[in-house]
Amino acid sequence: MQHMELFAQEISGWVEVAVDAAFDPGGSGGLHYALDSTLTDLAPGDPVTVPLGKRNRPVRGWVVDRLDSAPPMDATRVKHVLSRIEDAPVLPASLIDLARWIAGYYITPLGTTLASMQPPKTTSTGAPRQHRWIDLATTPPETGGRLGANQAAILEYLRSLPASNRPVERLALVRSLDLNDASGIDRLVTRGLLQEVAAPVPEGVSPIAPSLTDDQRQVIDAIDATAGGFSVHMLLGVTGSGKTEVYLQLIERTLHRGHAALVLVPEILLTPQTAARLESRFPDRGIGVLHSGVSVARRRNTWRRVREGEIDIVLGARSAVFAPFSDERLGLIVVDESHDSSYKQDTAPRYHGRDVAMRRGQQSNCPVVLGSATPSMESWFNATVTHKYTLHRLNNRAPGLTRPKVRIVDRIEERKADPGPQRSLGPTLRRALTNTLLDGGQALLLLNRRGWATHIACRSRTCGWVMRCDQCDAALVFHRKRDIAAGGTLQCHHCLSQLRMPRTCPACAGGLSRLGEGSQRLEDEIALLHPDLVQGEQLVRLDVDTRGSGERVRSTMNALRSGQIRVLVGTQMIAKGLDLPGVHLVGVVDADTALHQPDFRAAERTFQLVAQVAGRCGRGDTAGTVIIQTCCADDPAIALAAAERYEAFATLELEQRQLSGLPPVRRMARMVVDDPALPKARDAARALAQRLRAVDVQWAVSPPAPCPLARAANRFRWQVDVMADTPAILHQGLVAARASRAFDALGSIMIDVDPLYLQ
Ligand code: ADP
Ligand code: ZN
Ligand code: ZN
Repeated sequence: MQHMELFAQEISGWVEVAVDAAFDPGGSGGLHYALDSTLTDLAPGDPVTVPLGKRNRPVRGWVVDRLDSAPPMDATRVKHVLSRIEDAPVLPASLIDLARWIAGYYITPLGTTLASMQPPKTTSTGAPRQHRWIDLATTPPETGGRLGANQAAILEYLRSLPASNRPVERLALVRSLDLNDASGIDRLVTRGLLQEVAAPVPEGVSPIAPSLTDDQRQVIDAIDATAGGFSVHMLLGVTGSGKTEVYLQLIERTLHRGHAALVLVPEILLTPQTAARLESRFPDRGIGVLHSGVSVARRRNTWRRVREGEIDIVLGARSAVFAPFSDERLGLIVVDESHDSSYKQDTAPRYHGRDVAMRRGQQSNCPVVLGSATPSMESWFNATVTHKYTLHRLNNRAPGLTRPKVRIVDRIEERKADPGPQRSLGPTLRRALTNTLLDGGQALLLLNRRGWATHIACRSRTCGWVMRCDQCDAALVFHRKRDIAAGGTLQCHHCLSQLRMPRTCPACAGGLSRLGEGSQRLEDEIALLHPDLVQGEQLVRLDVDTRGSGERVRSTMNALRSGQIRVLVGTQMIAKGLDLPGVHLVGVVDADTALHQPDFRAAERTFQLVAQVAGRCGRGDTAGTVIIQTCCADDPAIALAAAERYEAFATLELEQRQLSGLPPVRRMARMVVDDPALPKARDAARALAQRLRAVDVQWAVSPPAPCPLARAANRFRWQVDVMADTPAILHQGLVAARASRAFDALGSIMIDVDPLYLQ
């Protein structure tokens, strides 16, 4: 019936539509639909509803092309576009082209790719919290009358703060003084003893450009000379070497030419500082911030303004690479901290923001600048071996900045001298922390493991029982929760299930030990050493468990900047906010967390973490100290990172990759199939490997094998890897495999092109 109805209407045109459904048409394109006379003017980018499948289920999609003539298909099978979706945004041609490339390169359905480019949907209208900044009144009234105890305490506290630590955010003040609400503060403002002031300008923000160093000028001129054409530039320089200043000047020249600039940063921690610098340098320009910490309504509004040409600069995290600039308008792309793994999306489409940025640069014919102190091996390979990128160096820190004192502490040696109970902080780091606090400085302590204890094991040596998740191949992590009788719960970091802590070993009824230190236990250890910090929230932990929202991260960073937080403990997410003038001590509690992982990028990740921390900078006499605790003091990843010798490390590491034929020297794609039944997963992997071997390209297909994480959330996981000598061969093979339906009918399959994590 439905067919008859659809067919009965007159056809006034044809379009290609990418549907938003888990359905891959076998290539990176869409499906063909006919248009009724009411929809004749549909154009590429328009959101539509179309019928899909045998039952003609209506699904969302986007017109990606108009056809000049009827496609070669059976007339009885023609389906018609049902309607145009009126209230959804229209995608510009630049994004459709980009989506086609992503869908082809990463083997993802085009519709799924377009769906992930959409501005976020409005869900709630929760108004973003307003920051209000409070300071002592400049001219307080002479006779103020009597103050209540509460108000007196607030005044006294603010007076005790050094001027550089004021103003203080109103609600942060409520928290640090343990007040019930802000009424006392508000009354003091009414009485004229306190005043509300403008937000403090972050350190290093000035509307005036500094006079450039020779190095900076050379880099800027060299990159600027390539404007108007596509080229990629790798800017290598430690924190404080003036990379951001280079970006700012390049942006300025881009805007002068009437073009727009796109600036990508990895984490929301970095955006407030960069946004402030952009806003003060370009006060008359439209600047849009696009990342998950910005309210949905504002992001949608920014998206629309970019689309309408009202925005000159977009700053944002990974998905901001989809800012809807037209190809003609975009004149510069900057990818800051370009090595950061948060640029890779871990759900389909599994794209890498850096590589998509490169493709956008190609489409827009503009330069792309990748900045980093520790470029990924992929970028380094392209800068020094294939010469697809031009390498620029900033070898020195900007005037006035100094390198911190970096000290490697060998934990094995230390333990020999200080046998006592094992703790996270060795004597050297403990002493440094105490001294820093006595001197009025702040400290950041980094431990890249969440929870309190990383595993629960039986105390009996003969038993050896370890608590594991019953749905995953993973040990359970103990998370302390004070309000639970058992003191905490056990959590699986893969399937997120929670279990009660058993009293005794289920195997032998013996006692249990909580082994391995996580960030929670580190926080407890510091609270024991410095109980005074616990009051007034001067000791704060920041990791995935405490993070909550972008708002919470920002208020923590503000409290750190204003000096209220004395010690910040956290996982690697705090490594990115390190460059703060009040921080005199940075401690890497365990530099080896990533070193022993069974992943060929273990050394690279370790180097990055340690170097990012060691490369932090200070001003003048507050150069700062970095202490790195390790059991592998001689490992080049750690020793070279501490010495700030990126190029020496990269050369060594690239040699290793060359010898073992691993990325970036060869290119890789990884496929994982999973199923609740082990034989099914194994058979699917075997079938897949066979089909991939049948593809007529020169690639190596690995034997199917269980994944390192062999079971997750009750599903068995098997993998097949392919390796090719060049990106072109890999791509050819994947396209051919897709066209021959090699990925179909295998159950659940994940395809990851240029994978970063191999678990
Ligand atoms: P990076 O991005 O490499 O960390 P920045 O561009 O942020 O470096 O520079 C670090 C600090 O040095 C900033 O406060 C910046 O304003 C300042 N700075 C950068 N270039 C110069 C210069 N040529 N002269 C003086 N100060 C500079
Ligand atoms: Zn689990
Ligand atoms: Zn036991």
